[in-house]
Amino acid sequence: MNIHTRAVHAGDRKAAGRHVPVTTPIHAASSYFYKDIEELDRVFGGEQAGFSYARYGNPSNAALEELTTELESGHGSLACSSGMAALQLAIQTALTDRRKAVLAADALFGATFNLLMTVFGPLGVDVRFVNMCDLEAVARAIDEQKPGCLMMETISNPMLRVADLDKIAALAQAAGAALIVDNTFATPLLVKPMERGASLVVHSLTKYLAGHGDVMGGVVVSDEPHFATMTALSRVTGPALGPFECFLAMRGIKTFPLRMERQCANACRVASALSVNANVERVYFPQDPAHPDAAAIRRLFREGLFGAIVSFELKGNGREGVFRFMNALKMVVPATSLGDVHTMTLYPAISSHREISPKQRARMGIGDNLVRLSVGIEAAEDILADLDQALASISS
Ligand SMILES: *Cc1c(COP(=O)(O)O)cnc(C)c1O
Repeated sequence: MNIHTRAVHAGDRKAAGRHVPVTTPIHAASSYFYKDIEELDRVFGGEQAGFSYARYGNPSNAALEELTTELESGHGSLACSSGMAALQLAIQTALTDRRKAVLAADALFGATFNLLMTVFGPLGVDVRFVNMCDLEAVARAIDEQKPGCLMMETISNPMLRVADLDKIAALAQAAGAALIVDNTFATPLLVKPMERGASLVVHSLTKYLAGHGDVMGGVVVSDEPHFATMTALSRVTGPALGPFECFLAMRGIKTFPLRMERQCANACRVASALSVNANVERVYFPQDPAHPDAAAIRRLFREGLFGAIVSFELKGNGREGVFRFMNALKMVVPATSLGDVHTMTLYPAISSHREISPKQRARMGIGDNLVRLSVGIEAAEDILADLDQALASISS
């Protein structure tokens, strides 16, 4: 079935009674019982499918998890309280039966970098970084480090690099390492990492999938070999997403493919308009034929679906000019996060990449004049008009 159809139907309408609610209710109960204690015993023991205690699962979570599993073509999912909780669960799952070593992309979401360096590093995990867009370097690093898992993002933040994720999956598999892919920026509308060989796919549901800026959540979609380990881990570490949040996330996901198509189309228009704006030095967007990863992008993505994040540099300006630009915006929301229905802008140097030194930021290509835009579903003309007037105001 098409992703538009799956997004609307998967997971819902499971009730077996006389009436069937068209959407899954919010199951707020923390525990469940059965007509006899023998049955509860079988559920606790895992011999019979069912619910016993909400940290292990409940019908609201199960519905959302079935939906995300379908969207990402996985074996099973676990809904977590945030994207970061999901990443933590994914790394723990990947390393359970493997060498405690992670080979991660050198371009990573700031909090993911911190998770590796301030949580897993001090626990004794050997954390190393590599440019995932350089396959030879990845192969060499795997040889040297013998990692238990590799970690990357489909589209990196904020420079929007795209690595050959299927080729990396093959290298990981040959080395017996798991591949974790954070697919938050790309979403399953653009690419399904599981179908390209990933072991675990992570999303911040907070972003495109829920999409309305009103709920936090994360999810790990797992392949078959890792599912039992992931489930067992989550039962004792307790990252489970609450049922209210599951409901909101699921409600959001029904329109995610529609929103994402529109956001991708708007982003193409915004990127091409910015590239000819006299106040813009440079635009970073995967559609660009001169993009350093153009070959991987053409292979992995479909025409017109390049994601909805556009990064750009202001001409002849630094921090002060970026502040003036962001203050001059009238409709575009200058707030952290991305993927919402409204267009948002963020200054990586003070937010997502604040903890990284200016020198290190420069090495990552993140200049003091770099702005990240998450394009929303508004009419493209209105987004362009607001960007235009704010850009004009910094040059005057
Ligand atoms: C936001 C984000 C996260 C973290 O998700 P939270 O829901 O904020 O915990 C992880 N990875 C990427 C790529 C993100 O954009």
